[in-house]
Amino acid sequence: MPELPEVETIKRELSAKLLGRRFSDVEIFDEKPLRGISPREFRRRLMGQRIEDISRSGKYLLFQLSSDETMIIHLRMTGALLLDPKEREKFTRIIFRFDGGTTLVFTDVRRFGAVYLVRNKADIVGRLGVEPLSEEFTPEVLAGLLAGRRAPIKAVLLDQTVIAGIGNMYADEALFSTGIHPLTPAGKLNSTQIRALHGAIRKILVRAIGSGGASVSTYRRPGGEIGTAHFDFKVAHCGGKKCPRCRAEIQRVRVRNRSSYYCPQCQELDRDVT
Ligand SMILES: [Zn+2]
Repeated sequence: MPELPEVETIKRELSAKLLGRRFSDVEIFDEKPLRGISPREFRRRLMGQRIEDISRSGKYLLFQLSSDETMIIHLRMTGALLLDPKEREKFTRIIFRFDGGTTLVFTDVRRFGAVYLVRNKADIVGRLGVEPLSEEFTPEVLAGLLAGRRAPIKAVLLDQTVIAGIGNMYADEALFSTGIHPLTPAGKLNSTQIRALHGAIRKILVRAIGSGGASVSTYRRPGGEIGTAHFDFKVAHCGGKKCPRCRAEIQRVRVRNRSSYYCPQCQELDRDVT
């Protein structure tokens, strides 16, 4: 599933091609992604609008339109946004056409992706937590967010209302990098661990953006290329492989119904704190 580095990569690549472009046509082949709006109304309100800005909040992409409305897209599990694909894509849900001939194709194999068109973007992204790459996100802020929480740290990192944009892959990598077991109660981390986790989250996300995101599943960049961030993964999606640090076998544990990968030796669970 695309997380912050993947969505940031998509944002940057779409911005280079679509800023200032006007919608000249919208073809909807599947209305399931459209939330709270009919295909007919969606198309009517997009036609002729210019894209003034493209931004990201957590894992959401926001297209600011000249009409003062915002089109918001969440790719969920398998959504992708492709610019001028050479061949007809099998799982095409919507095709956006722009003046000048550029096309943007929204594809989605599993059909969990969501597309909104709203006047007030806060209706969709207003409850998101702090952006981990913003100046606002400091070790002190992270400490405040974790204080008193009994939920496993892995679950808290995935909670988009606490920190926005981190998903399963990068949470696993950040926890491995700091030697923290995913089931450690969030409120039990000490200040040294919190400082390390804060640094690891930022470093891992920045590095993954530099690699164009991670293509472990269906993720592709808008030009159709894959991202290479997963080549740096130490534990995420590495079940059964050996820990690069100690050679123990990477284990998998379910946390809130999601698979978490970790090294049982490098990330020991401190029995005193659970
Ligand atoms: Zn290890």
